[in-house]
Amino acid sequence: MLLLSPNCSGIEPFRLEPVDVLGDWTIRPLVKSVELKAFARILSAGLQKPTTHTLKMSDGQAPEKVLKRELIEKQVERVWEDYPGLLVCTPPWSDKRSPIRRLCAWHLKQAHVQGTLVKIGCEDCWSDSKEWASVDAWGMRHNFDIVVRDRSRTEALVIEVKAFKGAGSPNGEVQRFIGQLLLARSKHPIVMGICGRWTTANMGLFKDTAKVDKVCRQLDLEMVFLEIREAQ
Ligand SMILES: [Zn+2]
Repeated sequence: MLLLSPNCSGIEPFRLEPVDVLGDWTIRPLVKSVELKAFARILSAGLQKPTTHTLKMSDGQAPEKVLKRELIEKQVERVWEDYPGLLVCTPPWSDKRSPIRRLCAWHLKQAHVQGTLVKIGCEDCWSDSKEWASVDAWGMRHNFDIVVRDRSRTEALVIEVKAFKGAGSPNGEVQRFIGQLLLARSKHPIVMGICGRWTTANMGLFKDTAKVDKVCRQLDLEMVFLEIREAQ
């Protein structure tokens, strides 16, 4: 399709590439990996039973880190134990000053340094994942929180995590979050956005939630909202 800018005769017309030149990067890809689909379904269901979770906060800890480490990653690890064939890449949370590296069984075997065996959170898997999981667009690399890959296929699930804490309404954060999910979705067939809310803001504004949720699902973006309570 040739598009011409109206009233701009001096500007070169540009040509839109047909979608099929994008290969697998189509709007509704058929996810072939049964394991990946099952992983996403079980993770989502497990996190939403119940939808309210209690987490302990230590002084100075960032809510998002607590949410990731104490809830999401623990649940990811539990689900992964039933799907060990999938490659799970989560942040290693490594101590940069420590010479002891956190590595999976495979990378530990390759390593010639001291290492601790970890089920998930391998430092080498995490750094290797950037090349195939991140989205490089407009001169920028967009990285994601957790990626799960079917080793035998070129498909991955992306999980983005966001924490909202405070009395204010996190409009800007939610809008930015959906942008991140769309960037992930441009490359990966299944994308899950998990929001943990400590916030007490609730203005009762829900009447369009189902419509937004439906549009997100049509784009294969699953939004999961969890209420977080602080352990006393
Ligand atoms: Zn590894």
